[in-house]
Amino acid sequence: MTHTDYTTEALKTWTAPLRGAEEGRTYLVLGLLSELGEVADVLKKAIRNGTPKDEVRRRLVDEIGDVLWYSAMIQHEGGLPAIDHELSPWLEYVARGISVADLLTHASFMYGITAEECRIANIAKLRDRAARGVIAGEGGSR
Ligand SMILES: [Mg+2]
Repeated sequence: MTHTDYTTEALKTWTAPLRGAEEGRTYLVLGLLSELGEVADVLKKAIRNGTPKDEVRRRLVDEIGDVLWYSAMIQHEGGLPAIDHELSPWLEYVARGISVADLLTHASFMYGITAEECRIANIAKLRDRAARGVIAGEGGSR
């Protein structure tokens, strides 16, 4: 699944009223931050719990897929929002401190994870959620 194909599918789950709105771009940046935090949480718990590598890999594919969703939607919406918002320090952090490409490079090196694998898993998860009407709910395992 190419990035373009993925974006087409992912856009089906990026809906009004936030889509196309300035507040929507802020929402997406904060979503990207939270998903990167979930990646960190997987790695943190792997250290604490001695999680088997194949389980860590499975969880990373899921969370990196979420990272790719927010990253693709930010790109679709025209990039990072202007840094003139009350959340500026957070947005600045994202703009300067995080490279999704670097994350994927590391995931590939450590776990053999590919961007395509994450895209496919993410679209499968989103389609399942859409079919069950739980896209807008909370919790990673809904
Ligand atoms: Mg997640």
